[in-house]
Amino acid sequence: MKVKMILPALTEAESPFWRPIKYSLFPPLGLATLASYLSPDDEIDLQDQHVEVLDLTDDPDLVIIQVYITNAYRAYKIADHYKSKGAYVLLGGLHVTSLPEEAAPHADSIFIGPGEETFPQFLRDFKNKVPKKVYRSGIRTLDKIPPVRRDLIKRNRYLVPNSIVVSRGCPHHCNFCYKDAFFEGGKSFYTQAVDDALTEIDRLPGRHLYFLDDHLLGNAKFASQLFEGMKGMNRVFQGAATIDSILKGNLIEKAAEAGLRSVFVGFETFDPANLKQSNKKQNLEKDYVKAVNRLHSLGIMINGSFVFGLDEDNKDVFRRTVDWGVKNSITTSTYHVLTPYPGTRLFKDMEEQGRILTRNWNLYDTRNVVYKTTNLTADELKNGYNWAYKEFYSWSNIFRSSLNHESNKHKLKHLFYSGGWKKFEPVWNFLIKTKGLNNMLPLLESILAKVNVKENKKVSDMSKISDDSILLNY
Ligand code: SF4
Repeated sequence: MKVKMILPALTEAESPFWRPIKYSLFPPLGLATLASYLSPDDEIDLQDQHVEVLDLTDDPDLVIIQVYITNAYRAYKIADHYKSKGAYVLLGGLHVTSLPEEAAPHADSIFIGPGEETFPQFLRDFKNKVPKKVYRSGIRTLDKIPPVRRDLIKRNRYLVPNSIVVSRGCPHHCNFCYKDAFFEGGKSFYTQAVDDALTEIDRLPGRHLYFLDDHLLGNAKFASQLFEGMKGMNRVFQGAATIDSILKGNLIEKAAEAGLRSVFVGFETFDPANLKQSNKKQNLEKDYVKAVNRLHSLGIMINGSFVFGLDEDNKDVFRRTVDWGVKNSITTSTYHVLTPYPGTRLFKDMEEQGRILTRNWNLYDTRNVVYKTTNLTADELKNGYNWAYKEFYSWSNIFRSSLNHESNKHKLKHLFYSGGWKKFEPVWNFLIKTKGLNNMLPLLESILAKVNVKENKKVSDMSKISDDSILLNY
């Protein structure tokens, strides 16, 4: 059977502000995971429109398209195209799960929720010529999932080809997050067996790994055993964790020992009322600065995530957030305009309050204001968001932030990582064009090399001053 798997490009990936490198980081792991359930005899073509021009002239038997909110319209067009050619078309992913009625007319079958159980079930039904219109995930387990079909991934087109996921979901319930909608009707957080995860890690070449799990430290027992098993593997890795998990026990030390060198942390907001509005309990009454300093002391770089536009935000929020990030030496910051994704608690609340301004999903990219704001006007929010990015990544702030670290090695790592990420676009574009991104891995690995620091005094001292003045630390 001829199978075509497609990740259509997100709309924002083609805007004038497109940074090609941002969309050339990770291969489409979800599709490569589903491909592992297909037969070795199937002819599979996996295409990612972020890194290649889609070939739509072929005639596959089965087409599988992964749908996110901002590629939804494009995904539907591609689906219609293949349906008209007589292919059997499947749609699945976050957006299909949120709005199945919208997706269904464009597909022969749709998938609601994760596909580890439903996709093999579909394949059996398809073979027996009795496929269903809707497949809804109920049983959730990662036991005995086959190895990801990494052979289908064009490694040289990605900066981080070794992305990996060893769990699904997250134990928390933030109300702006897709997670609860996607996992409705079953478990919303589960992990692989530790040995299976270690075997998958072993399959990956080189040293560098990027765990795309929503919360790598979410199950302390699993994470602890995983890090124990990784100790001798000589890996360097990046992942995501919550503030409470960084502050609790010694899991973060174990992660650092196993090779964790940078972590994505959802700080999101400093305002307790905003945290409550977002049901972000894991951040409430947590000492952000203590978490940051703990990471610094372990030589772990920080990618901080911040949301603008929550109801308590006012005009100061942009300046305060950028200043805090610079003063506390956050290595990279990701800012978002609050976005009520359909299917989330936040969307329901805003809909009830009549605050949803548009259902043009292309605008739901966390850069546009799609809802009625409270203390800020939509323009103030959008301009403040743009300003924050510009300001945080100005050379002067990159230098200031880097120099706050104690050791020279840490200073240099911060400078190279942050500056390299944001300031060398022509180099990234050249590497993408020449399909040489993968050659940057050794450099990335050396930037992620271990830093031996006891305590980052300069940062701690400075944070104290800044906290008192802007009341960030409750
Ligand atoms: S911690 Fe992150 S992944 Fe988990 S529910 Fe909140 S936003 Fe979603």
